[in-house]
Amino acid sequence: MRFERKRVWLTHKYREQWECCPLCCEQLKWVYDGNVWIPCNIEPKMFRRQIGSSLNMVKKKELIEGCELYKGGSPEGFTYGLIPHVYTCTELMKGLSL
Ligand SMILES: [Zn+2]
Repeated sequence: MRFERKRVWLTHKYREQWECCPLCCEQLKWVYDGNVWIPCNIEPKMFRRQIGSSLNMVKKKELIEGCELYKGGSPEGFTYGLIPHVYTCTELMKGLSL
């Protein structure tokens, strides 16, 4: 399989034509933050700010840097947002582990 330029990045300058991930076929939701397009997973996830974390989440069309996902326990301080697909793409993970 050739990758060409069909790859999922955290942000895209332009909205791509695909509605599904070109690598793993998961359905995506494109969010425009006023500057760039961010392909996100459709299902919202609970998260909160976490200084030093490399995870970015999308909330109200804004990319929020330094987040951690809810992993159980008290949900206090957590809010719902969309997770950019680049963090969960199974095909992309395989590529990174090479
Ligand atoms: Zn994918």
